[in-house]
Order: sequence, then C-alpha cells, then structure tokens
Amino acid sequence: MMATHDNPQLGAVAIIGGGLAGLSAGSALADAGYRVELFERRPYLGGRASSYELPGTGEVVDNCQHVLLGCCTNLIDFYRRLGVEQQIRWYDEITFILPGGKSSTLKPGMLPAPLHAAPSFLASSVLDLKDKLAIARAMIALTPALPTDNAENFQAWLERHGQTKQAIDRFWAPVLVSALNEELHRVSVHYAALVFRDSFLKSAEAGRMGVPAVPLSQLYGTAASYIEGHGGKVHLRAAVESIESDGDNVRLRVGGEEVRAGYAILATPFNSVEKLLADVPEMEALRKKAHSFDSSPITGIHLWFDREITPLEHAVLLERTIQWMFHKSKILATRKNSEQSGSYLELVVSSSKTLVDKPRGEIIDLAVRELAEFFPAVRDSKLTKATVIKEVHATFSPSPGSDAFRPSHATPWPRLLLAGDWTATGWPATMEGAVRSGYGVAEVLTGRAGKFLVPDLPARGLMRMFS
Ligand SMILES: Cc1cc2nc3c(=O)[nH]c(=O)nc-3n(C[C@H](O)[C@H](O)[C@H](O)COP(=O)(O)OP(=O)(O)OC[C@H]3O[C@@H](n4cnc5c(N)ncnc54)[C@H](O)[C@@H]3O)c2cc1C
Repeated sequence: MMATHDNPQLGAVAIIGGGLAGLSAGSALADAGYRVELFERRPYLGGRASSYELPGTGEVVDNCQHVLLGCCTNLIDFYRRLGVEQQIRWYDEITFILPGGKSSTLKPGMLPAPLHAAPSFLASSVLDLKDKLAIARAMIALTPALPTDNAENFQAWLERHGQTKQAIDRFWAPVLVSALNEELHRVSVHYAALVFRDSFLKSAEAGRMGVPAVPLSQLYGTAASYIEGHGGKVHLRAAVESIESDGDNVRLRVGGEEVRAGYAILATPFNSVEKLLADVPEMEALRKKAHSFDSSPITGIHLWFDREITPLEHAVLLERTIQWMFHKSKILATRKNSEQSGSYLELVVSSSKTLVDKPRGEIIDLAVRELAEFFPAVRDSKLTKATVIKEVHATFSPSPGSDAFRPSHATPWPRLLLAGDWTATGWPATMEGAVRSGYGVAEVLTGRAGKFLVPDLPARGLMRMFS
C-alpha cells in the first residue's frame, strides 16, 4: 500500500478504478511523466472487460465476449501503447444465420463507401427484396449527417422510415441490440445512427470486427506493467472507501490508510459515485446525474462440447434468444495451438432482461436447444461443461435524453476529475468510450488538448462528401 504523502509531488495522481477508463488514463499520464498510483478493488484488472478462472474447471473465461470495430481508434491506440495490438484478430465478414441453417455473409467488396457492402447485402438470402429496399431507404436517410436529435427512440424512427418487421428483426435489431445493449425502443436515434454511420457506412476499415485472441485480463493486465514501467504503482484488492478534498490535495481512504495525491481521477462505474461522494453537499448535482442512468444486462453462456459443431469462428444467430456465437476454441490463441479436442463456444445475449431471473440450468438447456437449430451437429455432441455469466448492470442504456446525465471530466473539486464509459464521451458504453474518457481526462489534467485523444478514421469513397 502507498504510504501517506505529507508533501505530495505536484505530479502525483491517484486513479480509482482499474477498468479501461482508469488504465488508459493511468497509462497516458504515466507516459507524460506523472507519478500514477492506481487503486482497483478486485484482484485483477479490466473491470467490466475481464476474465478469471472458473472454479473447479481449470478454464479461464471472459466475463463476456468483447468485440471492437475498426472505428475504435482510441482503443486501438491504447493497444498499440501497451504493445498488445497483435493480440486482436480482425474479421471482415459477418455471417447471419436463421434457425434451420439458411445463412448469408455481409462483407466489403470493390465499391466505394458507403456502398462497399452493398453487393453482399443485395445477395443476402435472409432478407426479402422488400426488406432490402426498406433498409436501403433508411441508410440513405442516415448517410448525409449524424442526427443530433437525442429525444426520439430508434424503433419509432424505423417505423417512420417504413421498415418491414423482417428488416427490423433480421437486420436492425441484431446489429444494434448487440452494439448498444438495449432494445430499439429504448435507444436514441443519435446513438443508433452513430453505430451505422461510423462503422457500416464510413469505410470498410471502420466496420472490421476485432476479437481479442487472449483472455481479457491478460490483455488489459499489461497496463499494470506499462504504468509500473513508467514509475507508477498499481494496487489490486485496494478498494477506495472515501474521498475528501483539502485544497491542494485529494485524500483517499484505502484499507484503513490515508493516501494523499495532488489529483485524483474517479474512474468507477456511475453507481460508485453515490457511495464514494455520499455526504458531500457540493456533489449533489453529480450524484443526481449518476442516479439518473438505467442499466441493461448482458448474459454470456459458455458451452464446451466433445467435438466441433461448426467450422465458423463467429456468427449472428437470428430470431432466437441467443444472439451471437463466438467459437472460442478457434479464436483464442492458446486453445488454437493446444491439443485440446472439442469445441468451446460462448453465446452472447445482449439486453438479456428475460434471462436475469432464470435459473442457470434453464438458460443452458434453452441455449443448447436453440443452438441445435442453427448447428445440427449439437444433437450428436456431448456437452462436457457449461456455465452462465450474468452481468446484470452491464452498461448504461443509451436511451433518448440520456446525454443530459453524462457529466464532463470536471467536478466541483478542481483536483478531482471523472472518467468512465458513462461520462460525456459522445460514445455509447463501450471499451472505446471508456478509453476516450481515460485519454480525455488525461488531457484535462495535463492541460494538453490533442495530446492523447486520437482522431476518428477518415471517411472513404463517397462518404467524404458527408463527413
Ligand atoms: C457483459 C459485458 C459485455 C460487453 N461487451 C462489450 C463489447 O463487446 N464491446 C465493447 O466495446 N464494450 C463492451 N462492454 C462494455 C465495456 O466493457 C465497458 O464499457 C467498459 O469496459 C467500461 O470501462 P470503465 O473503465 O468505464 O468501467 P469498469 O470496467 O466498470 O471499471 C471500473 C473499475 O472500478 C473499480 N472500482 C469500483 N469501485 C471502486 C473502489 N471504491 N475502489 C477501487 N476500485 C473500484 C471496479 O472494480 C472496476 O474495475 C461490455 C460490458 C459488459 C459488462
């Protein structure tokens, strides 16, 4: 544990929270010469993007499969900073499958953006011509500019733009519910449009999907060596119990000890704000904002079969409870190279409100039953292990009007700053949003705008006319 600093250096920064926001802020500040002390209450780093060993199985599992897109420029910069960018596997194609096995693959072709995926989209066998025409009309409406309206919900917008039920069920909902972790009627038009414009329409590069090839805590654990290699210190199992300000310092209480620093960055989820700043009158407005968020659950179902049930590495599963399949034994570098036989799959259900109260056994039965509708080989396979991980408060809902609650980095105490995916990053709750908040808070603290935040990818092809 860090000793009490009676004469803290001006450059000492305490960071509360070892998720992506805290780790990216800590790495950027350590790189800029600040002495960083990071406090994480858990025994591992990564926060909501982490992994751990499943008791009694010897298997290391992610709390949930995490994916990124090519447009996540700050997250990719963070990977480069840590030297782990090679640990991400990139995919240009996404396969959509219907129960019964009919499938189609969306992939970029030779046409300029925003038409690069048009040939594969037009060839899709999971959509009818009526659906395709409706989707094309909606895409044309989204192309010219990002709607600034934060009041309408996207379901209403889709209905206003003449979308068929099948276009919604087989295209808009699968993409957006997984990207934003919320139902379409609870998603603002602004965030839905951001997903499509910044990934699907802008360029082929922006829409590529990246999947970590190592467990998440291994990926993000490297940030500890980075921070410590730059003169900082990372404390695990170190829950911050209280925060106080006394003019030139911020005082934290950690494990009964007092820690002082010139600055502190609170990089916890929004629900910790109310606890850590409970009795501070000047923080009332911030507490109110933090209290205004709704959260939405995600459920990951991990299944180990005695044989391979599909050659696909991942797929979108349509019209069932299970939404995505990730073939972890093919994606994970350690498993690919090992002698282990069989298949390890993770199925992801975003906005999994219907599963929160269901017993784990029932969820596994449902998932295996549904999976067999997509991949008949499941019926001849033996399920050797299974587990369910429910993240009940996975992310905040990007609902219409939610931008009003998202605070900036500043707080009423000049030496206490905020970071986290829920702050005003302009992005939904994602790893990219968390890193944007970490780099952004580092710029505010150092007073060096443009030092850490990385620009968005440039628009390509015809999209250059609309950026
Ligand atoms: C199941 C699931 C699936 C997801 N899938 C994706 C995806 O595919 N792609 C994507 O981009 N994003 C995804 N996300 C969202 C992404 O994980 C988050 O947006 C991001 O990780 C948030 O980072 P953060 O640093 O803001 O917060 P957190 O990760 O929540 O980090 C905050 C940290 O603060 C610590 N902490 C809290 N209180 C204290 C205290 N008092 N003292 C010390 N430490 C404390 C916590 O333990 C935690 O480690 C997913 C999230 C979940 C839960």
